[in-house]
Amino acid sequence: MNTFKKTLVLDTISNIISHQRGFFKSQKTKDLDYRLSLLKALKVEILANEQAVIDALNKDFKKSEFEAYLSEFGIVISELNLAIKHLKKWAKPKRIKSSLLTFPSKDYLYQEPFGTILILAPWNYPFLLAMEPLIMALAAGNTVVVKPSELTVHTSKVITRIIKNVFPESHATSIEGGVEISTALLAQKWDYIFFTGSTKIGKIVAQAAAKYLTPVVLELGGKSPCIIDDSVNLKLVARRLVWGKFLNGGQTCIAPDYVIAKSNIKQELIAVLKTEILRRYGENPEGSADFPRIINKNNIKRLETLLMDSSIAFGGEINANECYISPTIVDEPNLNSQLMQEEIFGPILPILTYDTEEDIEQIIWNIEKPLSFYVFSNNTSFIKETIEKYSFGGGVINDLLIHFGNHRLPFGGVGASGMGKYHGKHGFDTFSNTKPIVKRGNWFDPSFRYAPYKGKMSLLRTVFKYFG
Ligand code: NAD
Repeated sequence: MNTFKKTLVLDTISNIISHQRGFFKSQKTKDLDYRLSLLKALKVEILANEQAVIDALNKDFKKSEFEAYLSEFGIVISELNLAIKHLKKWAKPKRIKSSLLTFPSKDYLYQEPFGTILILAPWNYPFLLAMEPLIMALAAGNTVVVKPSELTVHTSKVITRIIKNVFPESHATSIEGGVEISTALLAQKWDYIFFTGSTKIGKIVAQAAAKYLTPVVLELGGKSPCIIDDSVNLKLVARRLVWGKFLNGGQTCIAPDYVIAKSNIKQELIAVLKTEILRRYGENPEGSADFPRIINKNNIKRLETLLMDSSIAFGGEINANECYISPTIVDEPNLNSQLMQEEIFGPILPILTYDTEEDIEQIIWNIEKPLSFYVFSNNTSFIKETIEKYSFGGGVINDLLIHFGNHRLPFGGVGASGMGKYHGKHGFDTFSNTKPIVKRGNWFDPSFRYAPYKGKMSLLRTVFKYFG
């Protein structure tokens, strides 16, 4: 971007923010009926664009209609329905039990919007991960600027159009663009930043937020393990594993990155996985309408490099021109290989093995805390031990990904996989500042707390001992 264009972009962005700040200060977004009417209008607009969203996702990376609905469109509509149904209840000040130390009082929690919020979205679930935080940020009464991913141009255009058709720019808007636009946006002062993307860029976002002490949610990625012991029904495991790993072409933040299988089941596991892949995507997955493409050539190159020197047990076919890589199984990669050092984010499944629990520790504790954690087992004490021993964002026992589907469960990472949680009401709470308010009664005002304090010490100790 040349200097003239840069100045123009910065001017436009700071104008938008200044209008949004003005609109926020007008208190209009705090009006619950106004918020509700816009959420309902947003629902009408999104429903009217269902086919456009599905087509755009297909144009961007050949996502099938089924996966587009299951993992993006359907969830967005559910979150909108939830927000519309519960908004008044969520936003209502909540009466909290008073304390004897504040007696006489009525105590409350007020939920207030933060103000003007920036949402930066990734490309892998481009509609869902721009719209879901947007819905909850608006439900909470904020004004919002969302920047969808530059890598999914068709979907980003639909997002921009939907928002434009419902909201005045001073309330919500979508600004499309790549790194330059993100950088220009991050240079501004926001009241809150919500970022979904890689750990590497998450660090840049956190640094930009630190400049103004802006609160930030980071929804990042990582290497999510999937442990499989020898007490399981391997055919069922293979069915679920092939679904969870190859959905979206393996480009899912909570996909199982790698498997750690009990060594005595490895060969059989690989055999049932092969059968299952063939059953789902056929002999030639490139021809399957249900198997998406890798998002771009850079990522194909990256995945090709990850496969170098690997022992491929199945798949490994690459058609770089078509951004295609077949469902691939890698047998026992070295822990120091690039494949095991970075998030794979593609349809490559490494199978590692263990014999003892120390073997599992050696693998998991040498990798940053993951976003998700999966264990397949029928051994209750093994399951209990693993989910309690390791730190991760969220987990599933005997299946994959489905924790994302329950809006009552907070979703987010820990450590290198992120900070902050959302989904359903947790999203509304994330985009709200909780203000505790104590309304003191005037009918009783003992002189005890006022100076002079002489002679009051023992009563003070008694009060804290029994009522503190
Ligand atoms: P990314 O970090 O490359 O990009 C995310 C956003 O940041 C995009 O809008 C992009 O324009 C912007 N961006 C890119 N470079 C930037 C820079 N230098 N400065 C400022 N902004 C910049 O991520 P991606 O490739 O779009 O998505 C894949 C990653 O996201 C994976 O690591 C995946 O695990 C993670 N992810 C996490 C979740 C989650 O919910 N935790 C969900 C989806 C994806």
